[in-house]
Amino acid sequence: MPEVVLAIDVGGTKMALALVDSDGTVLADDVRPTPAGPDPLEVVAPLLDGVAAIVGQLPASSAPLRVGISSAGPLDGPAGTVSPVNIGAWRDFPLVEQVRRAAADATGRRAVVGLANDGHCFTLGEHWLGAGRDVASMVGMVLSTGVGAGAVLEDELFGGATGNAVHLGHISVDAWGSRCVCGGHGCVEMYARGPAMVATAQARGWTGGDDARALTADARAGDPVALGVIDEGMRALAAGIATTATELDVTTFVLGGGVSRAGEVIFAPLRRHVADFAALPYVRDLEIRPAVLENAGLLGAAALALRLEVGADERP
Ligand SMILES: [Zn+2]
Repeated sequence: MPEVVLAIDVGGTKMALALVDSDGTVLADDVRPTPAGPDPLEVVAPLLDGVAAIVGQLPASSAPLRVGISSAGPLDGPAGTVSPVNIGAWRDFPLVEQVRRAAADATGRRAVVGLANDGHCFTLGEHWLGAGRDVASMVGMVLSTGVGAGAVLEDELFGGATGNAVHLGHISVDAWGSRCVCGGHGCVEMYARGPAMVATAQARGWTGGDDARALTADARAGDPVALGVIDEGMRALAAGIATTATELDVTTFVLGGGVSRAGEVIFAPLRRHVADFAALPYVRDLEIRPAVLENAGLLGAAALALRLEVGADERP
């Protein structure tokens, strides 16, 4: 019988849970709203209720339960704490310990919990079951209100010392650019993220709406301002992609996230600009594939759980 793990995807508006087997089949799932309040324990309470409810469906076992958590960053992987940009109540919040205790209490089994940022889990999911399942190494990217990313190298997640590696959205593509929220200058995200492209278009007189969906729809209809802004945003993303490919020596990139669902109006300029930057022989065949999974983050959290070494988290 394939092993069953618990996968958790923590988002700013909802928290998704699933029991997933080692073939990637979702056996049960649950969604809880993310409370907006300032009390960190009140915010985690629905998630812990969800953990107790879903693991209650597991058959009795004496084997440790493996759990994977995807969360927005920043986070501290080794410490098991999160400070998600989209959940203000959690700052250095010990999410791993909270979930570990809830899962252990509900099952009577030892629980081993892994934590990775949402870009990393997206990449693990697409590598396991999605657009990158035929390659050993790939970079995954999520283009939405921000630009998240992660890398799987030779079938292993490249987490980095703190679990924040391959932060592609905060690669600088303009050393003289204005100040980014991260403290740097001219980061990819400042030009490529959906709200940034919308704000730039509005500043140039575009009145077609107030979100990236409206902007990409107008670009598809030929609106010159929308086309121009998207072209610039994708040039910034392309520079970040070429930099990452040059550093990691990886040529398969998978792009998902809400803005990417607009399709060719995003991918065509992106590929054109990537070809302009990726000139070295070993990155010249760089390929950008659309993501294929609806729930890559959740399945990636399951992949993370399946990679955990049982015993690594043992406590007295
Ligand atoms: Zn930045």
